[in-house]
Amino acid sequence: MQLRSAFIGLGSNLEDPAAQLDRALAALAARGDLRLDAVSSYYRTAPWGETAQPAFVNAAARLETALSPEALLDVLIAIESAAGRRRELRWGPRTLDLDLLAFDGERRDTPRLTLPHPHLHERAFVLVPLAEIAPALEIPGRGRIDALLARVNPAGVERLPRYPESMESRK
Ligand code: ADP
Ligand code: MG
Repeated sequence: MQLRSAFIGLGSNLEDPAAQLDRALAALAARGDLRLDAVSSYYRTAPWGETAQPAFVNAAARLETALSPEALLDVLIAIESAAGRRRELRWGPRTLDLDLLAFDGERRDTPRLTLPHPHLHERAFVLVPLAEIAPALEIPGRGRIDALLARVNPAGVERLPRYPESMESRK
């Protein structure tokens, strides 16, 4: 069984965002078909796109799996659905957003799955947490995470204390 590493981005700005991330990570950690092996700090981030909405909490994680990229995306979508995620406004508020950022150098360009994630290289709220766990990660067609991070404006991305995450989000 060939294990490959994948990176995911987590985000939430509704219904106790840090607790949403805690639960999503617990759901991933409980699975037998992947192994969660690194999780970044949580970051409070200014809303992007539609800016008249609550601040987000974002994080990144690395996992190892024998699943295909498509099967892993299905796992992420199932965890989003379990959190009560409904797909309404594009870039609007969401209880939980799990994005597949990169999967072992794979590329995809289908309606269901774009790899690497098409906006990863331009979003500080993705690059800052990802750089914490994988600064040397090479994104196919884009370059290293630390080099990509140097090109975005990190203002509005603020690291939250590790504990207690869910209390911190209620401030
Ligand atoms: P966004 O994360 O861009 O705000 P959504 O979370 O609503 O948007 O995702 C919409 C669709 O994007 C998903 O149903 C999924 O099939 C598709 N998608 C394409 N590429 C990816 C990817 N790399 N990670 C997550 N979803 C993706
Ligand atoms: Mg998404």
